[in-house]
Parts: sequence; structure tokens; C-alpha cells
Amino acid sequence: MTNRTVSAYGAASATAAIAPMTIERRAPRADDVVLAISHCGICHSDIHQARDEWGGSVFPMVPGHEVIGRVIEVGASVTRFAVGDRVGVGCLVDSCRSCEYCVRGLEQFCVRGPAPTYNGVEMDRTTPTYGGYSGAIVVPESFVLRIPEGLDPAGAAPLLCAGITTWSPLRRWGVGKGSKVAVVGLGGLGHMGVKLAAAMGAEVTVFSTSAKKEADARRLGAHDFANTSEPGALKKLRGRFDLVLDTVSAMHDYDAQLRTLRPEGVMAVVGAPADKVAMRPFSLITGNRGIVGSNIGGIRETQEMLDFCGQHGLVADIELIAPTEIDAAYDRVLRSDVRYRFVIDTATLRA
Ligand code: NAP
Ligand code: ZN
Ligand code: ZN
Repeated sequence: MTNRTVSAYGAASATAAIAPMTIERRAPRADDVVLAISHCGICHSDIHQARDEWGGSVFPMVPGHEVIGRVIEVGASVTRFAVGDRVGVGCLVDSCRSCEYCVRGLEQFCVRGPAPTYNGVEMDRTTPTYGGYSGAIVVPESFVLRIPEGLDPAGAAPLLCAGITTWSPLRRWGVGKGSKVAVVGLGGLGHMGVKLAAAMGAEVTVFSTSAKKEADARRLGAHDFANTSEPGALKKLRGRFDLVLDTVSAMHDYDAQLRTLRPEGVMAVVGAPADKVAMRPFSLITGNRGIVGSNIGGIRETQEMLDFCGQHGLVADIELIAPTEIDAAYDRVLRSDVRYRFVIDTATLRA
């Protein structure tokens, strides 16, 4: 078995457009699964990293960590997947598999540092990883997810990041019937947060800067909508929520959001602008409120989320695009004009 040369789209530098390139995928090892990628979602994290907004980006970069494909080859020791299976790959492609966090299914906190799907290196710490804006990917079977039958593959792609990143804090903070949840920002993550929280039985309110998204918010499962571009919009909602799930990709008023929490409520931050945030200690103190971060989710938890989506028939609302449209899609994401995830049809990259 030999390496494969695969067509991909990626960035040559932080200021370059997303353009065609070729990459090498390794010949599968005994525990590897080879996917022919059919779809890959565009996460706002792809933009942050392709434009080096977080610092430390590695180029050339092939982004993409919402990957769906069919298995086309398996290594000799693979037991859980067979050729023809529909599978997914999320934000991680490997970890040490033995540290305290890996054993607990929190591979994202692997003490050696996990191997991210792109913009990083394999566990050998030298081989660069390239993501899902490509025709094929080779991943150890323990990092491959099973996609429930019946889910549309294009709509399922965003579950691999937007889905798990919102699922994990909703579960961790015990959201269920009767919980009052606010989802901040109706983009890729936010719209999955609304769908998942509503399916868990929560009463969901969307905080959005885009008044024109209100009808969509309600269609996606929200019970209420606050237009945060109107001054004082959050004042009316003080003391209301058990959980505020913040998915916003840019600077905004975190402090005002804290005050919408009930006593003992928690604001879980998943949106990741690189800036510093201002916050009054009293916004926390006056209600024993908490602010926590949440980083994607582990592999076991991701499979649980996918199975839940299978049972509830949940997928993302997507716009399917060609690889040549990625740059234009990035521009629309940056204008908050995404309904609600762009997914790349990678079929043309497979030849
Ligand atoms: P997205 O589709 O661009 O959605 C972000 C939404 O935030 C926008 O649609 C918009 O919603 C709102 N927004 C944008 N700019 C704003 C501003 N200046 N003030 C207030 N609201 C604003 O992005 P995404 O893919 O969902 O990702 C969201 C963030 O989560 C990104 O920073 C991404 O890197 C991060 N992320 C984190 C993790 C993690 O593990 N923690 C995982 C994945 C992604 P409205 O139009 O409704 O206001
Ligand atoms: Zn992502
Ligand atoms: Zn580990």
C-alpha cells in the first residue's frame, strides 16, 4: 500500500485565498480507516485559523473538521468499520489514548496534546495534519464516528463540530425539560444549540444581533427572541436563564448576558474571539453565577450526540456549495449571513 495524493482546497498563508492544492495521505496503518470525503462543513474556526486570528497557524493549511464520508479502505486490525460505511471525523484525529483525560473520553485535553484534524501535527509531532476540504482522509478507527442511518449526510457534517460543541455544555449543565436556556448568536453553532436544547426539552431564547433571523429562530425551536442590537434588550431578561450558551465569534457584551442568569446560573462560552473580555465581578457575585468555557467534546460524547440526533432526526440547516465558493462563503459567514452552515460538496475532489 502506498501514500495517496489527494486534491484539496487550502490556504498557502494567512492572507491567501482558499485555493486548490494537493496533499499526501499516508498508506493506512493496521488501525486506520480511509474515508472518501463527501461533505465538509465550514466552521468559523476554519476562518479564525486560516487567517491566523488565534496565532500560531501552520501553512499550508487545509481546513475542515466537520467531515463526512464513506469508508473505502480499512487497515488489517480495524473491527468497527467496513468498506461502504458512512462515517464522520470531527476536530480530533488522534491523542495519546492512555493519559487520564484520554481514558475518561476527554481526548481534547490529552496531556500530550491531541492531534487536531488540521493546523497541527500527528502524535509523532512532526507530520502535519490536513482537514476535510479534501477528497480523502486517513484516521485511526478510534477517532472515526458512526453516522446514524437516515441522517442526510450533508446536514450531518456540521454535527461533528457545531453539534458536539453545543451538545457538550448543554449536557454538562444538565439541560432538560423545563430548563431555561439562552443561545447567543444564531450561526452554525447557535442554530445547533437551539435545535439540541429544544430537543432536550428546554425553553430556548435566542439572543441575536440580526432581527431578520427571528422567524428562523422560532422555526428551529426557540420560544423567544431578543434582538441585542436594540439597546437595553437584555435588561428585560434579567434573572431569567439557567444556562446562557455563548456562540458568538466576535467581541460583544458578555457582562450584560451574565445578568440574564438566575441565581446559580452558568454562562458557557464556546464562541472564541481572540480578545480580552470585560466583566464586573458583581455580575457573578450577586447571583452565585458562573462563567465557564467548553472545548468541543470527546469521542464517546460525540457518538452519543450523533445517536441522539439519529433518534430525533436532527441535522443542521445547510447551504451546499462547491469548493470554488469557499472564499465567498467565508465572507458571508463574517457578515453573519449564514443560514446556518455552509457545507462543501467535495465530490469533485475525489477523482
Ligand atoms: P458563525 O456561524 O459565524 O456564528 C456566529 C454568530 O455570532 C453569527 O451568526 C452572529 O449571530 C453572531 N455574531 C457575529 N458577530 C457578532 C458581533 N460582533 N456581536 C454579536 N454577535 C455576533 O460561527 P460558528 O461557526 O457558529 O462559530 C462561533 C464561534 O465558536 C467561533 O468563534 C468559533 O471559532 C467558535 N468555536 C468554538 C468551539 C469550541 O470548542 N469552543 C468549537 C467550534 C467553534 P447573529 O446574527 O444571530 O447575531
Ligand atoms: Zn469547528
Ligand atoms: Zn492523552
